[in-house]
Amino acid sequence: MPSTHYMQEALRQAELAQAMGEVPVGAVLVLNDQIIARAHNQNITLNDPSAHAEIMVLRAAGALLNNYRLLHTQLYVTLEPCLMCLGAIVHARVGRVVFGASDPKTGACGSCVSAHAFSHHNHRVEVEGGVLADTSALMLKTFFSARRR
Ligand SMILES: [Zn+2]
Repeated sequence: MPSTHYMQEALRQAELAQAMGEVPVGAVLVLNDQIIARAHNQNITLNDPSAHAEIMVLRAAGALLNNYRLLHTQLYVTLEPCLMCLGAIVHARVGRVVFGASDPKTGACGSCVSAHAFSHHNHRVEVEGGVLADTSALMLKTFFSARRR
């Protein structure tokens, strides 16, 4: 399946977040060309600052695989991961991250810092950005401008 297929699924998760009044960010985790977990931001709902889409999808996949190491997986997320999420992604040994929109405020995959390239990590994660970025960015922009009103 092409990257856009999985990103579409992540965008569907972002829509669910939006419907709950959460910041519209969604993620899916892929193993052997199959989506094994889907999640979205739930910070407000769970009163949990760590409940970003990426953390939620890693938790779901870990429970499913009964393993905290998620080797050979690919994580698709609609927004560039923050430092916290990138840390969790590295700890989980995710093989590859594909994100949509860049995040100039907290992006840790090139925008603010390039944490994925830190040389002291034992595990290096492959990162690709910009997949369906416009759709993701528009969803976030619409969300924040509606909230300001
Ligand atoms: Zn995050």
